[in-house]
Parts: sequence; structure tokens; C-alpha cells
Amino acid sequence: MEFMRPATWADALAAKAEHPGALPIQGGTDVMVEINFDVRRPEALLDLNRVAELTEWDTSGGRLRVGAGVPYARLIRELGDRLPGLAQAARTVGSPQIRNRGSVGGNLGAASPAGDSHPPLLAGDAVVEAESAARGVRMIPAAEFYLGVKRSALEPDELIRAFWSAPASGPQYFSKIGTRNAMVIAVCSFALALHPEERRVGTGVGSAAPTPRRAPAAEAFASAELDWEGRGPLPDAASRRFGELVADAAAPIDDVRGTAGYRRHALAVMARRTLAWAWNDHRAATPERRAS
Ligand SMILES: Cc1cc2nc3c(=O)[nH]c(=O)nc-3n(C[C@H](O)[C@H](O)[C@H](O)COP(=O)(O)OP(=O)(O)OC[C@H]3O[C@@H](n4cnc5c(N)ncnc54)[C@H](O)[C@@H]3O)c2cc1C
Repeated sequence: MEFMRPATWADALAAKAEHPGALPIQGGTDVMVEINFDVRRPEALLDLNRVAELTEWDTSGGRLRVGAGVPYARLIRELGDRLPGLAQAARTVGSPQIRNRGSVGGNLGAASPAGDSHPPLLAGDAVVEAESAARGVRMIPAAEFYLGVKRSALEPDELIRAFWSAPASGPQYFSKIGTRNAMVIAVCSFALALHPEERRVGTGVGSAAPTPRRAPAAEAFASAELDWEGRGPLPDAASRRFGELVADAAAPIDDVRGTAGYRRHALAVMARRTLAWAWNDHRAATPERRAS
């Protein structure tokens, strides 16, 4: 197996153009498992660890641009205040060792329906920055990135350079169900982001369909139902309906981790709870306005 180790992003793109079959490796927490278990035997490995800019983040035009290789541990430490939903998800990934190596870029590259980054990226309207030597940069909204089980919109000659996201403008939550408390692949997961300036609710459903996906009908319902002006309490009936609509958006299967019925039920509960938590946080931060 050939092993390539470019030192610059331009060299990495050139190597991928020349060897479209080369498998990128960042933290290696998916790639090495697959190689060790003989799940795949790539013709070449393209090690991106020397490309320093992949592990940097900055802000541009009020948005965060986070390098594909920034490990979860740094994301939690350095961006937890600005991307709280993603940081919550990152805290549930694997173990400290996995969080020190694993990255959002690798989660996107693997495009597993169970990947924990995906629901918060969807709820927060993140955009994936992909690039190829031949066609340059392509900005792919997270909602258009996932095409099938472990299939993404990435072309064979493209690499993920970064993801973009606005810093949270309201409360965000991530909730995950596993068969134990840590080191666990999600049975199902859910992320919610309030976007108060746009009076909008964002959602992301994980591990309950062939791809991570949003729940558009639930988003529209909650966005219309929440009392953005008066900041009144969330009626129980509304949070229950929101939960039902999130569950309806899923297309789960029965597998070793859980049944389709359990996943639907769990999603409804997680959706109901995260909406209540987020709305209560929002109300606490911005007191209720009573009509005088
Ligand atoms: C013990 C263990 C526990 C785990 N627990 C979780 C968990 O709780 N939640 C979870 O979501 N995942 C979990 N994982 C899976 C894995 O840690 C994550 O998917 C992680 O985000 C992968 O990141 P990485 O940098 O290690 O990716 P890598 O293994 O380096 O790469 C993963 C995939 O992305 C591709 N890739 C990497 N970088 C790029 C790039 N810049 N451009 C294009 N493609 C790229 C690779 O070719 C590969 O297909 C676990 C893994 C292990 C071994």
C-alpha cells in the first residue's frame, strides 16, 4: 500500500487528483479500524496530518471556519462556547483517546448515519468546504452532504478542508441514546438549535434513517408555535407535537442496537426535552414580556 504524506494543502489536493483511490487519513480512528479488520484495503493512504491549516480555526465575516482536522478535544475546549451543540456531541464521542485524535472532518468523510457530529451540523446550518485541484472550492450545505449510508456528496478527487458555522445565536442541545453511557455508537440521537434572530428552530436526527437528516415539518411547527415576542412558556401539547413530528421525520430500521419502534419513541422524547431545555434557557436569558 502506497503512503503519501503531503506537507501542504496544495500538495494534498494534487496527490488526491493523481490518486483518486487514495484514502485520506486524519485522526485514523475510523480508517485504522477498517484497515485492521480488513474492511478495506485502499491502494494508497493520504496522510493529512502534516497539513497544518487543517487543524486551525478562525472567524471570517462573523462565521467560524473550522479546519477539518481539528480534534474533538480542542473543539470542546476552544469552541465549546460558540458551538455548544457540536461540543455536547463531541463530548459523547468515544473516549478521551478518540477525542484527542478524531475530527469532524473524519466524521464527515465517514458519513455514517450514526456519526455524532452530523445532527448538530444540520441543526446549526453548517456548510462543508470541499476542494479539488481541478475545480477549486465547493461549499456544500450539511443538509445536502449526506447521500446514503456512508455515502456523501464528496467527489473522488475532493478533500474536506473545513466546515463553516455561525456561532450559536441561541441555546443548542444534543441528546444521544446508547446501550451504555460512554464509548457507544448512537442508537439514535437528536440535535436542536434555536435561532432567535430568525425566529427559527433547527434540528438534526442521527442514526434513525439511511442518512443524518433534518426534521423540516417539526422545525416549521416549533418555529411558528414558540412565543418569540412574549417569550411565554412552551405548552406541553406543543412540545409533544414537536416530538411526534421529529419521530415522523425518521426512517429507522431494526438492528442490533435497537428497534425502529424504540428509535421513534426515543426521538420523540429527546426532541420534546431538548426543545423545552432550549426554550427555558432562552426565556431565562431574555425575560418574559407581559402585556401591560
Ligand atoms: C473506540 C471508538 C469509539 C468511537 N466512538 C464514536 C462515537 O461515539 N461517535 C462517533 O461519531 N464516532 C465514533 N467513532 C468513530 C470515529 O472516531 C469518528 O468518526 C471520527 O470523527 C473520525 O475522525 P478521524 O479524524 O479519526 O477520521 P479518519 O479515521 O482519519 O477518517 C475517517 C473517514 O474520513 C475520511 N477523511 C478524513 N479526513 C478527510 C478529509 N479532510 N477530506 C476527505 N475525507 C477525509 C477518511 O478517508 C475516512 O473515510 C469511534 C471510533 C472508535 C475507534
